[in-house]
Amino acid sequence: MKKDGGTAKTRNFTEFPLAKASYSLSVHDPRDLPRPGAPEIAFAGRSNAGKSSAINTLAGRRRLAFVSKTPGRTQLINFFSLGGDAFLVDLPGYGYAGVPGEVRQHWKELVGRYISERESLAAVVVVMDSRHPLTDLDLTLIDWLKESGRRAHVLLTKSDKLSKQAAQATLARVRQELGRLYPGATAQLFSSLKREGIAEAASVLSHLAAGKNKAPAKGE
Ligand code: GDP
Repeated sequence: MKKDGGTAKTRNFTEFPLAKASYSLSVHDPRDLPRPGAPEIAFAGRSNAGKSSAINTLAGRRRLAFVSKTPGRTQLINFFSLGGDAFLVDLPGYGYAGVPGEVRQHWKELVGRYISERESLAAVVVVMDSRHPLTDLDLTLIDWLKESGRRAHVLLTKSDKLSKQAAQATLARVRQELGRLYPGATAQLFSSLKREGIAEAASVLSHLAAGKNKAPAKGE
């Protein structure tokens, strides 16, 4: 192992700078994505699963990612820079009842292409409400991640809404299912309200950001 920690892709994020998160840019069209650079950790999840709250909690900020949004409207990929060393990427939520077909199509195009093609994508955090994990759309997303060979970590949010025992049982069940669906994917409990699971998530993200990108470089 090299003493200097290696290149940008393999560096050791002993201090993953979540607290440095600042808004960088938003993209509506995959053609407008910035040139790939520092490793990106993307957050995806069913709308209302607690994704914005989780990003804010991890970054230690109240309104970095906006918590109250109009369902179906937010079809943007938002980038937050961590002091230039890495990016947190907020992918648009999915699974609203009554969302028009064209919005759904746009979501598939935007998120599907980002996941399958993005060279600087290091890993995807799949945010699920711990009371309703592994919905059909979560399974679709996990399929995409598996197809693209992306690293994946599941945050089971709002764990404060379950008893300790029920939360542990859910975690065990989700881990077991993931072992079948996509071995290597990891999972943990998380609560923005009770501020639980923050250290564990920060440590996992730091490892994921330090890992090598798995997607092949496209035609370069
Ligand atoms: P998003 O649509 O996935 O970004 O979800 P939000 O972060 O906007 O959260 C959706 C709703 O769940 C909001 O009313 C939040 O206040 C609530 N929520 C988010 N995280 C938690 C949590 O850890 N515990 C509880 N009890 N509620 C939460």
